[in-house]
Amino acid sequence: MTRAAEASIDLQALQYNLQQVRRHAKSAQVMAVIKANGYGHGMLRVAQALSSSDAFAVAKIEEALTLRNAGITKPILLLEGFSDSAELDQLQRHGVSAVVHHPSQIEQLEQASLVHPVEVWLKIDTGMHRLGIAIEQLDSSLKRLKGCRNVADSIVVMSHFANADDRSDPRTETQLKRFINATKGCGSLRSIANSAAILAHPQSHQAWVRPGIMLYGASPFIKGLAIDDGLKPVMTLSSKLIAINHYKKGNALGYGGSWRCPEDMAVGVVAIGYGDGYPRAARAGTPVVIDGARVPLIGRVSMDMIAVDLRTLPSAAIGDRAILWGGGLAVEEIAECAQTIPYELLCRVTERVRFTEVK
Ligand SMILES: *Cc1c(COP(=O)(O)O)cnc(C)c1O
Repeated sequence: MTRAAEASIDLQALQYNLQQVRRHAKSAQVMAVIKANGYGHGMLRVAQALSSSDAFAVAKIEEALTLRNAGITKPILLLEGFSDSAELDQLQRHGVSAVVHHPSQIEQLEQASLVHPVEVWLKIDTGMHRLGIAIEQLDSSLKRLKGCRNVADSIVVMSHFANADDRSDPRTETQLKRFINATKGCGSLRSIANSAAILAHPQSHQAWVRPGIMLYGASPFIKGLAIDDGLKPVMTLSSKLIAINHYKKGNALGYGGSWRCPEDMAVGVVAIGYGDGYPRAARAGTPVVIDGARVPLIGRVSMDMIAVDLRTLPSAAIGDRAILWGGGLAVEEIAECAQTIPYELLCRVTERVRFTEVK
C-alpha cells in the first residue's frame, strides 16, 4: 500500500515562478535560494528544475556538498559562510562560494594557504542585526579581502532585509538607502533583494537577486497571497479520508475532547498529522478541501490524523483525497490558521510523506 500522505511538487510551477522573478528583475542575475531542503520541496529536484537560474544559495556546508556530489556545477553560495579551516578547505575543494559576515572569517582567510582562491560575498549589516560586519568596517574589510591571495577577485557586497514582509514598513527603504550609500563607489557588485524586495522594491534589485519563498509559489508578505503576485503554488499536500464516523450530539472528539459535536453528525478522519508536518497549531475551522469543497478541521491535530466536519459534504467517501494546502487552497491561509508563516509549513513536511513530481 502506498502512503496516503503525498506532497506533489509541480516542477513547471517552479520554473514559471523563476520566470516571474526574471520578469520583475530583468537586468539582475538570479540566485535561487534552496536551503532547508529547497524549502521542503526536495533540494536536488528543485536545483535540477531551476537549472536556468544563475546560481544557488544554501545555508549549510552539507547542503552545498550534496549539490556538488549530485553533479550540480553552477555557482553555489554558502549563506552562513565557513566556521573553521576544515570547512574553508572543503569550500575550496568543491568550488563553493562563501558569505563572509564576520572579521574572524577574514582572519581565517588571511591565515589559510589554499590552492585555489575562494569566491567571497561580503555581508554588511544594514539594520537586521543578525549577521554582517558593521558598515563602518566595510572599506577596511574589502581592502583586506582584496589583498588576500586566498580570495578570488570579484567580491560581491550583500545585505539582508529585516522587515520586507510588510510592504509598507518604512524600515526597508531606510535599509536600502543605507546599503546603497555605504556601497557607492566600492567597485563591487551588490545584492540585497529577497522575494519580498523583488516584488515590492524594484530599486533594491541591483546585480544579484536572491529569491526563496516566491519560487515555491508562496507569498513573502504578511496577509499576502502569492496568486495575487502572479505566482503558482509548487507543493500540494494531500492525504486520504480513511474513515467516516457518525457521532451523537455532545460527543467529544480526539485528544483532550476539546471539540464537541453540536448535533448528530458525520466526521471524517484524514491520514495526516503533525508527524507528517501538518501543524499541530492549526485551529478548529482550518479549511481542508475534499472533492473541491472546503470542510473545516475539528478537534486537535494528532500525530497521524486530523478530523473534519462533513456536515456540508454528505457525498464524501472513504478513499477521497483531502488537500491540506497547495492547488486550490493557499498555504498562506493555512499558515494564518496555525499562527505561522508559509516558510515554516513548507520546510517542515517530513520524510514520511511521499513526494511525487508533476513535470
Ligand atoms: C533565506 C534567504 C533569502 C531568501 O529569502 P525569501 O524571503 O525566501 O525570498 C535571501 N537571502 C538570504 C541571505 C537568506 O538567508
